[in-house]
Amino acid sequence: MDYEKLAALLFPDVTKTPDDFEAIYPPRNLPEGARVTRFAPSPTGYMHIGGLFQAITDCFVAHQTGGVAMLRIEDTDKKREVVNGVKAIVDGCTAFGVNFDEGATGEGTEQGAYGPYTQSQRVEIYHTVAKSLVQKGFAYPCFCSPEDIADMKERQEAEGAQITGYFGKWAKCRELTYEEIEQNIKDGKSWMLRLRSLGKEDGRVSFDDMIKGKIELPENLRDEVLLKTDGVPTYHFAHACDDHFMRTTHVVRGEEWISSVPTHIALFRACGYKMPKYCHTAQVMKIDEEDGTKRKLSKRKDPEAAVSYFVENGFPKESVVEYLLTLLNSGFEDWRRANPKEDVNNYPFNLKKMSVSGCLFDLVKLTDISKGVISVMTADTVYDRVTEWAKEFDTELYDLFTADADFAKAIINIDRENPKPRKDIAKWDEVKDFFSYFFDSLFVPCYDLPANITAEDAKAILNAYMAVYDAADEKDVWFNKIKDLCEPLGFTPNVKEYKKNPDAFKGHVGDVSGVIRLAVTGRMNTPDLCTIMQLLGKEKVLARMLEFLNNI
Ligand code: GLU
Repeated sequence: MDYEKLAALLFPDVTKTPDDFEAIYPPRNLPEGARVTRFAPSPTGYMHIGGLFQAITDCFVAHQTGGVAMLRIEDTDKKREVVNGVKAIVDGCTAFGVNFDEGATGEGTEQGAYGPYTQSQRVEIYHTVAKSLVQKGFAYPCFCSPEDIADMKERQEAEGAQITGYFGKWAKCRELTYEEIEQNIKDGKSWMLRLRSLGKEDGRVSFDDMIKGKIELPENLRDEVLLKTDGVPTYHFAHACDDHFMRTTHVVRGEEWISSVPTHIALFRACGYKMPKYCHTAQVMKIDEEDGTKRKLSKRKDPEAAVSYFVENGFPKESVVEYLLTLLNSGFEDWRRANPKEDVNNYPFNLKKMSVSGCLFDLVKLTDISKGVISVMTADTVYDRVTEWAKEFDTELYDLFTADADFAKAIINIDRENPKPRKDIAKWDEVKDFFSYFFDSLFVPCYDLPANITAEDAKAILNAYMAVYDAADEKDVWFNKIKDLCEPLGFTPNVKEYKKNPDAFKGHVGDVSGVIRLAVTGRMNTPDLCTIMQLLGKEKVLARMLEFLNNI
């Protein structure tokens, strides 16, 4: 067979050679050891938390070594594509501070010298490489229809074939002559391009996965499809071409691709390309609420499988990244304990410390971490972040907070900006409820007294307190006044004393202040009450106490 002639027949419009692209995309001029990574999602409009895992890993691995991280859009499957699918990915990454150096930056926009970074715009490259494979006899056109393939499968099953697929004696089109191919094309038959596999039935291949270690698998036997009948490449072929010409050194991707590595090895060999290093990340798992089993986080069942969930619920990006790093790298928590204030980007990320078998996603732990992250933010930062979030997701809160920014910052600052800040808010969608009693439009009174306080006691406490209350009281004076209420009303100012001898008192100072707290805020539990009362002001405090007295 004259492969040159066949290549010209199949690709009459291809004028470039792979060497032209070698020149357009030369090896990168980077420091020794620099790693080039890429995150390569399909624009399906949905970003799974596992994708964010990979994107974070890509950026750490590249940036720590002075390398480059790219965002490549794999849009070869047009059936799965949705409007604004690229935007969902770009937003999904930037929302968590994950920034790529090259690649897609939005719908139809990109940056970098190794583009285009969208596969549908790289057809010329795929066809040029495909043509060169035909010229070398490593690829051939296949005219089998879907029915032919289904029929082949049936026969393989009937025969009880150990290995199924298009290969060896089953590969009907493998030995077509030039004349047959030419006639088929003249007849208008559509064709796909297949790899002429060199694999043997007992062949094995192995590779060193940077996360999972050495993996050995059966060699690829099948004449895999490289180009589909519409000329669009398969994932496998595009992966080889793109990661070669983008000069990727490390491929971070989900472990579901491990079984395809033998195909990729065959393809890189056929093309004459150096293999990248593979880093296959473990699945993100969760414990099923119903049956307690460990399972994959599912797009259908688990809202938290989508990164948009964390944006909508107002988890700060720092919390999410901080939490994901605890899952991604087993050394992270120790590092964080030793370096509590260090910028997370300085963490020495290590591929060897990634989970091999699957990491367990735990919203409770994220919530806990997030409380810590938010507790050390300044009031100004919290204010900015809450209003930014509320502008999109809660206009009522946005209006309340922006109507009087100083007031909003003051309430945010209660028990904050000190060495032991309160850890109470985990996400911005809790803020409105958390501070609701500061706003008359949100305040919900509560007239249910705690079990150990009678209505008479509550009334006596409030009446006595109103007689001494002064809105200007500083904390000490404020507290002393409450302590002074205790004894005449049968309570004790001394909690220890109460615990020693509970039958001797109606309660202690905490119960007394609790009644005041309940009257003023409608809650049993709040940050510092003295500050709350100062911020509410005399008029509101007294009005709420009177209302309370009338209702218990
Ligand atoms: N487009 C593939 C996916 O969405 C990317 C796999 C890879 O990173 O190579 O899973």
